[in-house]
Amino acid sequence: MKFHVLTLFPDMIINGMGESITGRAIKSGAISLEAVNIRDYAGNKHGQVDDYPYGGGAGMVMQPAPVYDAYRAVADRLSKPCRVVYMTPQGEVFCQKMAKEFALEEDLIILCGHYEGVDERVLELIVTDHVSIGDYVLTGGELPAMVMMDAISRLVPGVLHNDESAEYESFQNHLLEYPQYTRPVSFMGMDVPEVLLSGHHKNIAAWRQEQSLERTRQRRPDLL
Ligand code: SAM
Repeated sequence: MKFHVLTLFPDMIINGMGESITGRAIKSGAISLEAVNIRDYAGNKHGQVDDYPYGGGAGMVMQPAPVYDAYRAVADRLSKPCRVVYMTPQGEVFCQKMAKEFALEEDLIILCGHYEGVDERVLELIVTDHVSIGDYVLTGGELPAMVMMDAISRLVPGVLHNDESAEYESFQNHLLEYPQYTRPVSFMGMDVPEVLLSGHHKNIAAWRQEQSLERTRQRRPDLL
């Protein structure tokens, strides 16, 4: 999986993704990440990439040409066309099912907006998917892009080690994960459920399944 992020804040992307499990995956080559600075394609010596909205109104809008040129610089290097995701509060809300679908792609171009957003014409030209991370408005698309890339990366073979398996987790089979415990056995008068200490795998699996169901019923009945 190769992520190509078009952004005005490349350091945010590189630093945010360069830590922990995604950082390790980049180092090992399990995923690759490039952050393309849209400002490098400004086409003027002041590096200006935004302008006032036609029709008036608050804020600035990212101009189409620098976004298009940044996109072309990536797309022209790829051997075949790939999906281009625009992070926007107006998109389909991101979920685990989408993460699984995107994880099958070889390349993904992700466009991060800023200010009031991006000129509609370039979006019409290049974007294949509009994706939101929830019904709230952030200052830019960088955090949403990182949320999405993190969730996708965990599903790319070789990113998680065996002991970090993504196989049994929330949203598998429309259920939330069962509660987890580690040492010590007793903490502030609360003990780890007996069954987990029993070593009886069948009973443990049954208990976990029951807990998953109960937790989903209580917290996210909409998933059932
Ligand atoms: N004026 C836009 C609107 O009302 O739809 C919001 C622009 S927002 C301030 C600036 C940028 O942040 C957007 O272009 C988008 O890339 C990103 N963004 C903000 N909220 C987001 C969300 N919930 N999901 C994905 N991207 C978001």
